[in-house]
Amino acid sequence: MNMVVKFKTNPIKEDYIIGSQVLGVGINGKVVECRRINDGEKFALKVLRDVPKARREVELHYEASRHPHIVRIFEVYENTYNNVECLFVVMECMEGGELFTRIQERSNDAFTEREAANIMYSICSAIAYLHGLNIAHRDIKPENLLYTDPSNHAILKLTDFGFSKRLDDGTEKPLETPCYTPYYVAPEVLSSKKYDKSCDVWSAGIIAYILLCGYPPFYSHHGLPISPGMKKRIRAGQYNFVGPEWDRVSEAAKDLIRKCLKTDPAERSSINDIMCHKWITHYNKIPETPLETTKVLQEQRLQWPEVQEEMEKALASMRVDEVHIKSLNDAKNTLLAKRMKSSGHTK
Ligand code: ADP
Repeated sequence: MNMVVKFKTNPIKEDYIIGSQVLGVGINGKVVECRRINDGEKFALKVLRDVPKARREVELHYEASRHPHIVRIFEVYENTYNNVECLFVVMECMEGGELFTRIQERSNDAFTEREAANIMYSICSAIAYLHGLNIAHRDIKPENLLYTDPSNHAILKLTDFGFSKRLDDGTEKPLETPCYTPYYVAPEVLSSKKYDKSCDVWSAGIIAYILLCGYPPFYSHHGLPISPGMKKRIRAGQYNFVGPEWDRVSEAAKDLIRKCLKTDPAERSSINDIMCHKWITHYNKIPETPLETTKVLQEQRLQWPEVQEEMEKALASMRVDEVHIKSLNDAKNTLLAKRMKSSGHTK
């Protein structure tokens, strides 16, 4: 069944009491607590300015929100608030905090490789569901993975569809075809669908790496800031599994990370391949090897904002909208040059 959001037009205040507690602030708006008037149930309310980009975000998030590992949207209101057209998005309230905060706050019992595999199964199944709907999330990072509640049975869910994108499946209406002549479009532009999806798989690889050791592949363990040399290595896909923290980690886990972090998106596994990988299919039978993750996350907590920033930058560079234009121009120029040559034109 296709899930299409129906925007309610009555004032949200008729149905919900909007609380004063701010649950979080994002780049596009804030998230506050609210309660449904008829039964007192608590929800999270994201307020966005009603612009086309926000509508797209809400539509895609709503369409995907029936998955057990995606934050659920219940309803959306289009209301004018202080003379500004706004969208009020009523979501399930995630009260268990962010993924890595929770692992960092663990005390006695060690975080194990089996738990890491369980978490990766949740994340990858959400990605597989989205990709199956032809939606790329494109902003999968630690801050967007939240737990339902503080208990041990809490469920991890993906949120924030602010960069998500619907990928055309080649059956678009003619109206939506681009206004350039298709024969000089570079193949990577035509298959951009695959590239958008591949950045979600890259994110999964980064998260798996951090889950297993406590620091990201593009960051040195001993608190050294990221140097220009290190940035080059990230781009070249040079990371390693060195150090005592990696000795105990299974080969299957490392193999999965290598497949997710291939620098060339064409070589990177698809999410369906990842879902068939034995570390994911056997997520409940993975050895319960204790990991260093909690200890390293605690030691390096002051570096965490930098880790977030690096991940954000890497994701921005991977979203291909901008690259699109660039490769289109490149393609145009080389083809134009060829055509001029073959038709006897010189500059
Ligand atoms: P943006 O797209 O503007 O970055 P997010 O959707 O990421 O906004 O939300 C911003 C912050 O609000 C999140 O980092 C999180 O702390 C909090 N938040 C978002 N959704 C929920 C929710 N459903 N329940 C509780 N807190 C939430």
